[in-house]
Amino acid sequence: MRPIQMVDTHTQYHKIKSEIDKAVTDVIESSAFINGKPVQEFASGLSAYMGVKHTIPCGNGTDALQIAMMALGLQPGDEVITPSFTYIATTEVIALLKLTPVFVEVDPKTFCIDPVAAEKAITSKTKAIVPVHLYGQASPMEEIMAIAKKHHIYVIEDNAQATGCDYIFKDGSKKKTGTIGHIGATSFYPSKNLGAFGDGGAIFTNDDSLAVKLKMIANHGQSKRYYHDVVGCNSRLDTIQAAILNIKLKHLDEYAAARRKAADHYDKAFAHHPKIRTPYRAEYSNHVFHQYTLILEAVDRDGLNKFLAERNIPSMIYYPVPGHKQKMFEHFKVASQELPVTDWLTERVISLPIHTELDEEQLNFITSNILEFINK
Ligand SMILES: *Cc1c(COP(=O)(O)O)cnc(C)c1O
Repeated sequence: MRPIQMVDTHTQYHKIKSEIDKAVTDVIESSAFINGKPVQEFASGLSAYMGVKHTIPCGNGTDALQIAMMALGLQPGDEVITPSFTYIATTEVIALLKLTPVFVEVDPKTFCIDPVAAEKAITSKTKAIVPVHLYGQASPMEEIMAIAKKHHIYVIEDNAQATGCDYIFKDGSKKKTGTIGHIGATSFYPSKNLGAFGDGGAIFTNDDSLAVKLKMIANHGQSKRYYHDVVGCNSRLDTIQAAILNIKLKHLDEYAAARRKAADHYDKAFAHHPKIRTPYRAEYSNHVFHQYTLILEAVDRDGLNKFLAERNIPSMIYYPVPGHKQKMFEHFKVASQELPVTDWLTERVISLPIHTELDEEQLNFITSNILEFINK
């Protein structure tokens, strides 16, 4: 059996190696390492795939979120509503810009922001909601957009984990997650569903004037060369990364299908087990399984993690400490709030290996070992 990894980018690379190697060599030969032709090609290719008007490539997903908040003109003291049950980048940039993170609960079924909790948290200072499409499943965007419209606040989608996910509206129409809010932010970190061979990110919007601001802020606030109108930052997608992403974008749907196939296999193996809750699949979202995350009931999670590790099966806790319990937010008054659902999930979730290269033998080995431990 091939060794099992949380994410197997190496095997994936070898299937498209000749194409990738040529694209990388071409960039090196051109020596246009910054803003070379592949960057523009990638931005237009991704816009077409996402069905969005503007794609602004940038340095990473964290920058994408930061630039989005800067372009919306959020000011120190403004409140931004976000789930606590997410990766730190989402909430860190809020604090970095001296905005106030307001943590709210997630729906324990979907792991995504609870719209009722989000609306309850709105005050006169609230300027934005940041839903996170966690683990590859869409947040309930129709509800969130309605709340935002009613209260005149912005929506910034954190789509870092859900590139390729379709949101299915009640009328049956579809949009890609990341293109529904005022701005969407994503990451091409190597393990993400559309992963580069280094850091990368992008920002999406359908709003022409926001697109101008986003582009400007990502490029030192520059309106024309050496004329800087606003304070921005330096956040670029390397040409080499763009060239690699151009190739991987063509495979994205096939990669999502492979992830879903692995998820189906897990679902079947764990179906109806009294101690295992398999990922809920919301009817409005086609899950792209950035993570395959179980909820364990009355299982010694650390014991399971150790048992699996001894059999060379990796497993991870995403994430062991929720935002509202992180030391970096200690000084925020809102951080002292109680989020029982988030705490409950944090104690029970475990993520299994999921990627595009898992075969039947590996999947059976993983599931039989998990069941052996849990049924002991
Ligand atoms: C990965 C990730 C980010 C940040 O992306 P980077 O490219 O690593 O900066 C932000 N939010 C979520 C939910 C993520 O998973």
